Amino acid sequence: MSFNNFHMHTTYCDGANTPKEMAEAARALGCREIGFSGHSWLDFDPMWTMDPDAAAHYRETVSALKEEYAGEMKVFLGIEQDYCSDTDDLPNYDYVIGGVHCVFKDDNYISVDCDAETQRRGVEQWMAGTPWPLWKIITHWWGTSMRRPAATSSRTSTSSRSSSSGTTSST
Ligand SMILES: [Zn+2]
Repeated sequence: MSFNNFHMHTTYCDGANTPKEMAEAARALGCREIGFSGHSWLDFDPMWTMDPDAAAHYRETVSALKEEYAGEMKVFLGIEQDYCSDTDDLPNYDYVIGGVHCVFKDDNYISVDCDAETQRRGVEQWMAGTPWPLWKIITHWWGTSMRRPAATSSRTSTSSRSSSSGTTSST
């Protein structure tokens, strides 16, 4: 059985290996197709994203791998376009993955793709704590934080929907 991977990050952003190292590993595993998906540029968060110069170099490097592995393994040049990124070079890629790693709220960019402690602090700060103690998992907390007022005044109007879905208790 062969498998493919189209969501791969390299040293051009926050990956641990070079594109060449990853291609070699993929070939050794028997992959028939792979796609690199470097993180698009976010000027407020440069540690894990590709600035325009790095992105240009990344495209050259992956394009060279396409030729190097031709006939043996298909290599695709992709990008993971962040929701907050205004990258305008998307036509230069074979495919685009959409990603939400952070959101913009009250003049702050808030990471939503982070370690557990940062996530916990974010929930406390932007969701006014954890008002539903029975919750064990939080999903789509961006939408919740953007719509929900800081106080609990809206709980009455939403409680019937919540209880009918059986997902939480409002008491
Ligand atoms: Zn990714």
